[in-house]
Amino acid sequence: MIDFTDASAVFRLVSVIWILLSVPTFLYLLKHPAPYGRYATKGWGAMIPDKLGWMVMELPVLLIVITHIVTNSFELTLPGRVAIAFFISHYIYRCLVYPLRIRTTGKQMPLTIAIAAIVFNLINGNLIGLGLTRFAEHGLGQFNVLAVTGVVLFITGLLMHIAADNHLVALRKLSGNGYEIPYGKIFSKISCPNYLGEIIEWVGFAMITNHIAAWSFAIWTAANLIPRALHHHRWYLTHFKDYPPERKALVPYLL
Ligand code: NDP
Repeated sequence: MIDFTDASAVFRLVSVIWILLSVPTFLYLLKHPAPYGRYATKGWGAMIPDKLGWMVMELPVLLIVITHIVTNSFELTLPGRVAIAFFISHYIYRCLVYPLRIRTTGKQMPLTIAIAAIVFNLINGNLIGLGLTRFAEHGLGQFNVLAVTGVVLFITGLLMHIAADNHLVALRKLSGNGYEIPYGKIFSKISCPNYLGEIIEWVGFAMITNHIAAWSFAIWTAANLIPRALHHHRWYLTHFKDYPPERKALVPYLL
């Protein structure tokens, strides 16, 4: 039985429910790609500029987590502090650097998608913010093998993901406002190294903290990005007759 007077128990229950919700989302996204980027269509109502969409979708997470850090009293061990620094660095990149770098002139995304992402980010931001401050049991632990592996994975994932973003930004210069086949080391085995990098990052983050809120984010990231990578891969195969047949969608040689 859950003791509803115990805030930690309630927090864990909410986190578990949130994790379970990723399953139907994953199944839905396997069939229907989220309608932004190459799948943006007009049937989703009002549209907003792509860059603006990215900023307003992602900024809430950063602001919410910083608010929890500033307003909650908590003590963290070194891994906990490293995890928070990693999280904030990623989100500064995602909501302030990335939108300014992508080349999506004139492109739009449905407002509905931005609102859905904001709702997702409000929940995720509060879970991470509370999880890493008020409900950070034992200050988020010590640098054991799991946490050290997590640091290595987070940094590897971040570098992979930024390298892939750089590649796509450069490719857009060649393709006008359209799409080209990405070539080069990081794309030689898979279609979506940016997504693989992002998944590795958040698995690493979860391993550093070993906290349910961080694991829930890693699971949600995979639930969003595995289906999208499969759609992107199919899209490339359909649109480019010379698309490298040996390439996989997300995991070299496997998926
Ligand atoms: P995409 O790979 O679809 O697109 C990234 C950028 O590159 C876009 O500007 C896109 O243009 C452009 N682009 C992509 N492929 C090509 C190509 N072949 N030729 C030319 N330009 C290309 O990524 P998303 O937009 O889906 O996601 C952006 C970032 O957000 C990713 O790093 C992803 O990991 C992250 N993300 C994280 C989620 C999470 O749950 N943590 C969920 C969703 C995204 P255009 O927009 O015109 O297609």
